[in-house]
Amino acid sequence: MTAYQELMTFQRETEALGQIAGRLGWDQETMMPEGATPQRAEEHGAMANILHARRIDPRVGEWLAAAEPTDDVAAANLRHIQRDFDRTSKVPAALAAELAKTTSLAHRVWATARAEEDVPAFLPILQKVVDLRREEAAAIAGNADPYDALLDSYEPGATGASLAAMFDALRPRLVALRSAILDAPAPVELTGTFDEAGQLALSEKLALAFGYNTQNGRIDKAVHPFSSGSGLDVRITTRTSADDPFNCFYSTVHEVGHATYEQGIDKKHLLTPLGSGVSMGVHESQSRIYENQLGRSRAFTGWLYGQMRDTFGDFGIADEEAFYATVNRVSDGFIRTEADEVQYNLHVLLRFDLERALMSGDLSVNNLEAAWNDRFKADFGYAVDKPSNGILQDVHWSEGLFGYFPTYTLGNVYAGCLHTALRAAVPDLDSDLAKGDTSRATGWLRENLQQFGGLRTPLDTIKHATGSAPSEGPLLDYLEAKFKGIYGL
Ligand code: ZN
Repeated sequence: MTAYQELMTFQRETEALGQIAGRLGWDQETMMPEGATPQRAEEHGAMANILHARRIDPRVGEWLAAAEPTDDVAAANLRHIQRDFDRTSKVPAALAAELAKTTSLAHRVWATARAEEDVPAFLPILQKVVDLRREEAAAIAGNADPYDALLDSYEPGATGASLAAMFDALRPRLVALRSAILDAPAPVELTGTFDEAGQLALSEKLALAFGYNTQNGRIDKAVHPFSSGSGLDVRITTRTSADDPFNCFYSTVHEVGHATYEQGIDKKHLLTPLGSGVSMGVHESQSRIYENQLGRSRAFTGWLYGQMRDTFGDFGIADEEAFYATVNRVSDGFIRTEADEVQYNLHVLLRFDLERALMSGDLSVNNLEAAWNDRFKADFGYAVDKPSNGILQDVHWSEGLFGYFPTYTLGNVYAGCLHTALRAAVPDLDSDLAKGDTSRATGWLRENLQQFGGLRTPLDTIKHATGSAPSEGPLLDYLEAKFKGIYGL
């Protein structure tokens, strides 16, 4: 065997173990009896130790040094393994252990602080998480920008400065659009109750309509919807809410976007570094284009309206046009995860700017809440009323996930670019969507993006699919056209 073949044999087993570790997490959120929690924590720990040891195994370094790529797939595999090996090897074991211990504790402190609206109770442990992440970033990046080192683990190749330029261009037009919308009369709100069985049946129908393959997947209920797994076993979860069936439907479509990306990757990459989505941002572009540009389009919501009438009878919305406006209704709120297409990115931009300032040292943890509240008032026009609606609402910082937030907006930006390219390639797409048929859209995404998995860098993955470098323009143009239409602006 060549060094490359030996490396890939070893790597395949590591990838398989990674899938098993992921399925333990899936089980914990869906099936596991509550009493098993302490044992599961040990099981997770054992898997994490095994995976860590394999990632820094000295043989990996030797194989990498000796391996010769024979084609572009081999070159891409080596690039992924080298990157992972370098990053993991640079972080001292004691620091990695301290980070794992501290973020686990910080998560519990955050949950209590959020329930009790007690910011001061959270800040000392947050300070420790920030310090440890900065230390980790310095170990990886040397003297380079610590934020970039963290961002790179979610979106390889992206930098804080490049994202800031894109996001600074988004912000003023989003603020202006939001403000114009909220000055206009709002569409009717959905009212009434919708039985769970009907929601689950229609949500499965939606999953199938968007190409989710249940031969290689399954749908279960969870408190927070997620997708998990790669290759031949890609599972999703959803949730129901008696008075908010859109939450169920659009959570499902969102997770189907993630899941069909994984299912759409060429099976020749199975259990290799190329066999899963290339980055968080590209992953989110798939969930968002399914959920928003396709799932919340006028044509598709026309079909969904009929499906909801068939399932629930008359639910008080007069016709397809009114239903489209109701689905896309924009209203005041504090919570990122509940935000509509227009306001969602403003939430993310706020967190991005604050966490970058935290990592650079320009903002102290003690001034974080004031900075959050000032920024929120500036962009949304009203004040945060309590910490659980402000600085304490998201789990990410307690878990040390600095650099993760911007991938949500990057995903929306990518989705905007992909949608423009898709519409140019399939100009009469709406006639399909109006019948609940997404196959030409999902087929285009599979053909031009999904099948390649990790073959190219994230940026080149988008460039290959759209023919040009990504920019915020298409997303802004799409949002302005759509919402000016709905609100008659
Ligand atoms: Zn997502």
